[in-house]
Amino acid sequence: MIERTLVIIKPDGIQRSLMGKIITRLEDAGLKIIGMKMRWVDEKFAEKHYFDVKERYGDRILKSLTGYLAKGPVLAMVVEGVQAVSIIRKIVGATYPHEAAPGTIRGDFSHISKDHANKHEIPVSNLIHASAKPEEAKYEIELWFTKEEMHTYKTVHDVHVI
Ligand code: ADP
Repeated sequence: MIERTLVIIKPDGIQRSLMGKIITRLEDAGLKIIGMKMRWVDEKFAEKHYFDVKERYGDRILKSLTGYLAKGPVLAMVVEGVQAVSIIRKIVGATYPHEAAPGTIRGDFSHISKDHANKHEIPVSNLIHASAKPEEAKYEIELWFTKEEMHTYKTVHDVHVI
């Protein structure tokens, strides 16, 4: 099934000049970017994005996470493809970079551990966000993009998936 998902290159990815490399991995897999914009969000908006983090991890991590997302511009994308939500999570790799497999974006470009982040009370800088489930993708796409900001077009890969 063709799905849409939200991908965000977080401030560390932008500041480390990794935008091109990250986008290339998505394009190389045949995924289609149907919307893209650079935004510098504030912590209030970041809280809307991480709507379930307080419940899952508590207040301290929510604060650190919203501060992390708001510390610089991010690149937000809507990406489309067959089972795009789970496929992109696979390309992105595990949440904690020390556990992310080589060949994944997080595994190849970062290495911080959860223990290190917790000990120093810093966010787990892991370069990229990708929606975890189709329901989350729907919520997140509506939060970040208007209908007019997403586009329908064909790529060479469509020949293989239609
Ligand atoms: P994912 O981004 O892989 O979907 P989660 O939704 O579980 O992962 O977590 C959201 C983000 O919170 C992670 O990407 C990471 O940046 C940060 N994070 C997760 N756990 C911790 C932690 N223990 N300490 C600090 N930051 C964390």
